[in-house]
Amino acid sequence: MKSSRMDNLHPYVPGEQPKDRTYIKLNANENPYPPAPEVIKAVSDFVKTHPERLGLYPDPDSFVLRTAIAKMLNRTGGVLADCRSTGTGCEPAEKDMLPFTITPEMIYCGNGSDEVLSFIFYAFFDSDRPLVLPEFTYSFYPVYAGFYAVPLDPVPLNSDWTLDTKTMTGRACAHDSGTIFANPNAPTGRMLSRDEVRQMIQKSPKDRVFVVDEAYADFGTESCIPLLAEFDNLVIVRTFSKSFCGAGLRLGYIVAAPDIVKTVTTVKNSLNHFPVDAVTQIAGKAACESVSYYVQCAKKIVEEREKFSAFLKQKDWSVIPSCTNFIFTRPRAVSGKKVYEHIKQNGILLRRFDTAGIEEYLRITIGTAGQMSVLCSALSNL
Ligand SMILES: *Cc1c(COP(=O)(O)O)cnc(C)c1O
Repeated sequence: MKSSRMDNLHPYVPGEQPKDRTYIKLNANENPYPPAPEVIKAVSDFVKTHPERLGLYPDPDSFVLRTAIAKMLNRTGGVLADCRSTGTGCEPAEKDMLPFTITPEMIYCGNGSDEVLSFIFYAFFDSDRPLVLPEFTYSFYPVYAGFYAVPLDPVPLNSDWTLDTKTMTGRACAHDSGTIFANPNAPTGRMLSRDEVRQMIQKSPKDRVFVVDEAYADFGTESCIPLLAEFDNLVIVRTFSKSFCGAGLRLGYIVAAPDIVKTVTTVKNSLNHFPVDAVTQIAGKAACESVSYYVQCAKKIVEEREKFSAFLKQKDWSVIPSCTNFIFTRPRAVSGKKVYEHIKQNGILLRRFDTAGIEEYLRITIGTAGQMSVLCSALSNL
């Protein structure tokens, strides 16, 4: 009954999404803060004053939303945690200033960055050569590789969990193939500098796309968006799920040269041509216009992350330095699985992987100060 294609599917297993909402969820890197009050207002105003719009198809190309995203990126430089407040608004730190203006033609919006990534795989990666990626990175990439029959060449990480950039570029050249990774990377939390990424792209094939997934860049130190001035094969993927408190909205986007956006739009129009619903288009625009709220959320999360990291080190856990809204860490004295179970009994969900090489590690999302203190007490009672 099943098509032979089904044999290539190895579905992603997400962090538990329990029906029981009483758990403190620190297992899916969601943002613990609600969307900005302006987003709630925009959505309820929209539904109340234009109920008929829910009966009509949304703008398939999300033009107003793409314009708002472009404007938000120009105002922030792509690293919320580093933005300076300027009364009502904010501006990028000096090092995050963009050397050009992002236009709506450089933005593509989709139903979460997971869908955006799927369209990128379809549009740019073929079955005739292996795609280069780190051994440990976002576990959805291998899932799409199976779906689209793209062979992979995973490159082991360095011993400090950073990417082995030299081997990665060497392999990309040897196969004349594309590259994909998350920066900061998941689940490790480690980050390459913009200059390190620049050197990788310079040495990699120019006519293959180079994808940098910036799901966590707003909690990091640098975005690769400025590199778009130098490379038209660079594809940056970003999401509203983490730094924009909107995992439930399902909104992700690409920042890239207009030609890349056109190609991905062709895929969209051949598969799911209304990927962003009417309510999400309104919510996303309002979020971009309330960016100073999200700047504050990102700063709070970074502050909690550093406090929690110090706490774990004091307990003699091995802690990988993080540029994200989570910490990848392992207890030295007990097994990671035991800790996971103990903490779950205390009503807190963490993430762990049964993958060889990282099975002793826990990936812990940074929550509110209140949630982190509940977690710290539970860990102290181990
Ligand atoms: C969370 C995450 C995504 C998925 O984001 P959605 O927009 O919610 O689909 C993509 N890439 C990485 C690295 C992530 O951690």
